Amino acid sequence: MIPAEFDYVAPGSLADALAALQEGGDEAKVLAGGHSLLPLMKLRLAAPSLLVDLRRVDELRGISRENGSIVFGALTRHHDVATGGFGIASAAAATIADQQVRNMGTIGGTLAHGDPASDMPAVLLACDGSVVARSAEGEREIAAADLFEDYLTTSIGEQEIVTEVRLPLMEGYGYGYQKFNRRQEDWAMVAVAAAVKKGADGTVEDVRIGLTHMASTPLRATAAPSS
Ligand SMILES: Cc1cc2nc3c(=O)[nH]c(=O)nc-3n(C[C@H](O)[C@H](O)[C@H](O)COP(=O)(O)OP(=O)(O)OC[C@H]3O[C@@H](n4cnc5c(N)ncnc54)[C@H](O)[C@@H]3O)c2cc1C
Repeated sequence: MIPAEFDYVAPGSLADALAALQEGGDEAKVLAGGHSLLPLMKLRLAAPSLLVDLRRVDELRGISRENGSIVFGALTRHHDVATGGFGIASAAAATIADQQVRNMGTIGGTLAHGDPASDMPAVLLACDGSVVARSAEGEREIAAADLFEDYLTTSIGEQEIVTEVRLPLMEGYGYGYQKFNRRQEDWAMVAVAAAVKKGADGTVEDVRIGLTHMASTPLRATAAPSS
């Protein structure tokens, strides 16, 4: 339960964090809330030679609304998503573990980690959200559909830092996040994020479904809405 030796830096700006990551090369990793990476390091399933802690990078904090989306800074804690009145995102974030984990874990961290058992990826998929990633080369937006590649593997590059998570407001949609677990604060055995928009005549106009822990990656269910 003791991690391998590593170096540690806590830069005060995004530019410095990107520079530190580049200098650290392939063996460097960014640290956000630490609630997935540190357990992996203690189990020696991860052994980065350098941790670039983002805690002092204020550019990664804050929540705003822009062009019909909620924009979460990557360091937004699960607690702030759960209690902020953000519809389906709040419903899912409120089910993450216990208060201690929600006080530390971040929305950017959970999406970059790409664990199919995590709760927020299904929401990102159901809402057609995206993440914004920055590297020394520039910035790009990655759609949810292009983010989750394999088990614990995303399309975020080793030299990229997620700066923002963008979730469309989903106005006019009803929603729910249903999580099945043995005890209230456990990880999901499985879970479903669903958002439904009704037409004026009472028919269903649109259905979005994201699935948690049903495959090696988080999934968007596409057959059910079209049937
Ligand atoms: C006891 C326990 C129970 C939990 N239960 C649940 C649960 O029920 N549901 C759930 O969804 N999660 C659960 N979690 C996980 C928790 O939500 C983590 O906080 C989350 O998975 C990772 O977020 P983090 O900020 O802690 O990331 P970290 O652990 O700091 O990082 C995770 C990975 O993402 C990378 N990363 C982090 N931030 C960025 C960034 N901005 N840009 C690029 N890469 C980045 C890191 O390099 C690392 O590879 C649990 C954790 C614990 C310890």
